Amino acid sequence: MANKLISIVISAYNEEDNVGALYQALQDSLAKVKKVDFEFIYVDDGSSDKTYQNCLALQKKDVRVKIVQLKRNFGHEIAMTAGMDYAKGDAVIFMDADLQHPPVYIPQMIELWQQGKEIVLTKRVDNKDTSALYKFCAKTFYWVLNKLSETKIMESAPDFRLLDRKYVDFLKGFNEQDRLFRGLLSWVLPKENVALIDFVAPERFSGESKYNFTKSLHLALNSIMQFSVLPLRLATYLGLISALAALLLGAYVFVEHFFLHNPTPGYATIMVTVVFLGSVQLICLGIIGEYIGKIHMEVKKRPLYMADYVEKPAMKGKTHAKKDI
Ligand code: UDP
Ligand code: MG
Repeated sequence: MANKLISIVISAYNEEDNVGALYQALQDSLAKVKKVDFEFIYVDDGSSDKTYQNCLALQKKDVRVKIVQLKRNFGHEIAMTAGMDYAKGDAVIFMDADLQHPPVYIPQMIELWQQGKEIVLTKRVDNKDTSALYKFCAKTFYWVLNKLSETKIMESAPDFRLLDRKYVDFLKGFNEQDRLFRGLLSWVLPKENVALIDFVAPERFSGESKYNFTKSLHLALNSIMQFSVLPLRLATYLGLISALAALLLGAYVFVEHFFLHNPTPGYATIMVTVVFLGSVQLICLGIIGEYIGKIHMEVKKRPLYMADYVEKPAMKGKTHAKKDI
């Protein structure tokens, strides 16, 4: 019987010093794995350094290296999607290029898959690369997200995972632009046949994290909106609360004026009420606007990315939009 094929999808954005080191680490860890073939799909997410050239050099040595070269930087989530689209394996393993997802765990993931698990997730019990403040913010984000959303998303579950072909094909059916892989996965997560491996993420091998505070905040807000319409309902509640507050204030002024004959000076109360109601309206408009903006982007149904797929024997890369695949 022919060996099963496993695709390893590696998203890389400006990781010139990491792609080769990761390739080497993968070879060291996978040498023990028998009766399985591998393909290594490096997704170059529009890097401006030598990431692509270094991947090509790897491909020269090893035909199992395939390259998906995105035509600009589309972001990590789309990079993983592109890698998944081109992966041919019976199972697909996703990992970062910076060696924060240690390849030593891959044989264990494969073993679990061979034993019948269809999804192997990992849980980062510690991350040597993040500060206490970052960890606190991440914890708060997951708490808020899971309070707001019906789809629960596991905390500290990085994009280091194995998916059986069945789930890969299923996830390919999700065509939203704004996507959070771990959220989509939570949406399809079965009760059985899922395994979890704990690991400690080391510091990144070389270079710097691509997620600064604003990028992380955008990702956090986008994720909340992808999985919940509760903020819209929140706007309604906010409106109700402010209406109640205005009513109480009105009653208080009425009683003071007509029964206690102590009229409240108008200017201060009017200012407070106007500013309060104005800000509530702005908040509500903002929330509605955010959702309309998302609808505006999604209804266009643009292709998710544009990429060249480079395989050896070196073909001239063909440019595809996602729908052509
Ligand atoms: N990455 C990507 N496109 C981006 C940003 C990041 O493909 O626009 C890749 C990056 O090269 C790395 C992985 O996604 O392999 C995770 O990024 P990073 O290490 O910067 O995130 P962190 O580990 O700090 O959360
Ligand atoms: Mg990293």
